[in-house]
Amino acid sequence: MSAYPHLLAPLDLGFTTLKNRVLMGSMHTGLEETKDWNRVAEFYAERARGDVGLMVTGGIGPNLEGSVLPGAAMMTTDEDVANHSIVTDRVHEAGGKIAMQILHAGRYAYGPMCVAPSPVKSPISPFPPAELDEDGIEKQIQDIADTAARARKAGYDGVEIMGSEGYFLNQFLVTHTNKRTDRWGGSYENRMRLPIEVIKRTRAAVGDDFIIIYRLSMIDLVPNGSTHDEVVQLAKEVEKAGATIINTGIGWHEARIPTIATSVPRAAFAWVTKKLMGQVNIPVITSNRINTPEVGEEVLATGCADMVSMARPMLADAHFVAKAAAGKADQIAPCIACNQACLDHTFGGKISSCLVNPRACYETELVIEPSSGKKKIAIVGAGPAGLSTAMAATERGHTVTVFDKSDEIGGQLNMAKQVPGKEEFWGLVDWYRTMVADMGITVELGREVSADDLTGFDEVIVATGVIPRDTAIPGQDGANVLSYIDVLRHKAPVGKRVAVIGAGGIGFDVSEFLAHEGDSPTENLPLWMEEWGVTDPAQHRGGLAPEGPKPHAPAREITLLQRKAQKHGKGLGKTTGWIHRAALKMKDVNFVGGVNYERIDDAGLHVSFGEARENPTLIEVDTIVMCAGQISQRTLADELEAKGVSCHVIGGADVAAELDAKRAIDQGTRLAATL
Ligand code: NAP
Ligand code: SF4
Repeated sequence: MSAYPHLLAPLDLGFTTLKNRVLMGSMHTGLEETKDWNRVAEFYAERARGDVGLMVTGGIGPNLEGSVLPGAAMMTTDEDVANHSIVTDRVHEAGGKIAMQILHAGRYAYGPMCVAPSPVKSPISPFPPAELDEDGIEKQIQDIADTAARARKAGYDGVEIMGSEGYFLNQFLVTHTNKRTDRWGGSYENRMRLPIEVIKRTRAAVGDDFIIIYRLSMIDLVPNGSTHDEVVQLAKEVEKAGATIINTGIGWHEARIPTIATSVPRAAFAWVTKKLMGQVNIPVITSNRINTPEVGEEVLATGCADMVSMARPMLADAHFVAKAAAGKADQIAPCIACNQACLDHTFGGKISSCLVNPRACYETELVIEPSSGKKKIAIVGAGPAGLSTAMAATERGHTVTVFDKSDEIGGQLNMAKQVPGKEEFWGLVDWYRTMVADMGITVELGREVSADDLTGFDEVIVATGVIPRDTAIPGQDGANVLSYIDVLRHKAPVGKRVAVIGAGGIGFDVSEFLAHEGDSPTENLPLWMEEWGVTDPAQHRGGLAPEGPKPHAPAREITLLQRKAQKHGKGLGKTTGWIHRAALKMKDVNFVGGVNYERIDDAGLHVSFGEARENPTLIEVDTIVMCAGQISQRTLADELEAKGVSCHVIGGADVAAELDAKRAIDQGTRLAATL
């Protein structure tokens, strides 16, 4: 029997059957906006080949005013129908099913045409929305129903009506954004009227044998959000109005509580969906931070939902379900919930991809094909750059040997995994270990190779990474000074009062590591909920604890310093920087910017401020931790060059500035595709 009987069980919807309980949740990848419909089709078809039960596209606008951005994909013309047919045909040929998400953004629409129940500007958009009149509301309903009818014409198996995350329909439900006094506002019955009318009219437009998923916000995580009773009342009406499935939405986009970041515990919100189970007779899907078949199985087996939604995990591995079904779950490339190549790209106006799988959304461009000539390849460095090159080169048929002076693979990932909130990195290193073994890649650990060891290879790839930058601060050789490597890798003892020099990704990580003691909240859901002030929406509106976040006392008194005068963490991920900042603020970390490092002595760290080196200040600390960035480790590359041996230099050894695993893996995979 399969290890995942619940996850892999078919789901009979009456007029159609889904082959398993895995939904690929909607993601804004930016692919639809490329208008390269072959590329869009390949992205979805690849996931259909990986056997996911049902997929939902990125949000498609029903009209200009409701589109997330000017230029965002819509489904309003016959041409749109023809383009989307390319996608649905390819998915069906691959044996898959696909629904199109209809996304009306309301006040979240990033443009001057945006509309909403009331003229209440959103905190995450500069555009005040226009209040809709009766005709305007009727137009929105009709446009959504018409869009659904076109989706059916384009061959979709269904639509998902986006009613959560604080978008248009959600905005009608709560008094914070709906101040109306007509039949669309006031009582909850009135506030529910719009979403219910949308479902009824959509059902009438598409007929009975078409999937309608309604995405319902089950915990708003904003002040004056819905109560659990209101959620149940809405869900019952959603069912009556004709929805086939209810999907879970968690938190409005303006919520100040992380909902999908890597520091959020796995399946952190499955309990919210579970509260709805038994209240409606249609299947209910749960969502957020479900990233392995084990977690999905557990969620279903414990009655939290009828189906699980995984979005980003399907970027990391298009064949997630097929591998789980084949008993090869350990080969599934794990989504580490970093957002670095998916959501951060979306919010940066770039096409999404995946840190772990650079082929995601680049299926037609980055192709790993069998090579015509088989080569013997040496790769020095078993970090993400070296390992991703090794895997792609092996897949192409080359014979690869990886050398690393360390006694473990993973490079800097081994430091990241030590940080509370970054536990997912353990799984990433484990996955590399499995893949390297399963692919038969030779790995020689504990071997520091020189140029003379690398003769007899057709290609030599140097992925030796980085070394810490020397800051040359007087006194930095003192016993009270450590590097981030001493702290994260060697677990050197650190005093109670600490100054962290450098507020980049590693300075933040080290501060997080030093501020915590005991359980990581990421592995202890009640603790995490307490820290962020999340509670049961049956007790408090929106699921926000009235007393707010209750962080546990910090383990140390930490000062995080940078020379720049700008906001700390400005260079961190667009969608996660605020979380890192908030987490450290909750631990009372003192952010100090605009400093000059004058010297270090037994008393602590002496700094001054500004170009004129004014206001000399002693920061009295027991330990100073250097996190001042890195430079390329090029010793081997230089040696090879001096001997006239040609090599490829990748990852941090190539460029240290702004190095992260995303760039390293992408560069390695792309290089291997050309060898
Ligand atoms: P980084 O992001 O470049 O930060 C280096 C820090 O050191 C900066 O705050 C810089 O600020 C300071 N610095 C630079 N030169 C200095 C000098 N000579 N003396 C004193 N301070 C100096 O590098 P990192 O923190 O080592 O991180 C390396 C890479 O890993 C980065 O690309 C980072 O994004 C990535 N990473 C990402 C995450 C994540 O959460 N996404 C986590 C860990 C690492 P001032 O110049 O203002 O002092
Ligand atoms: Fe997951 Fe990170 Fe890949 Fe996004 S970039 S899919 S969060 S691993």
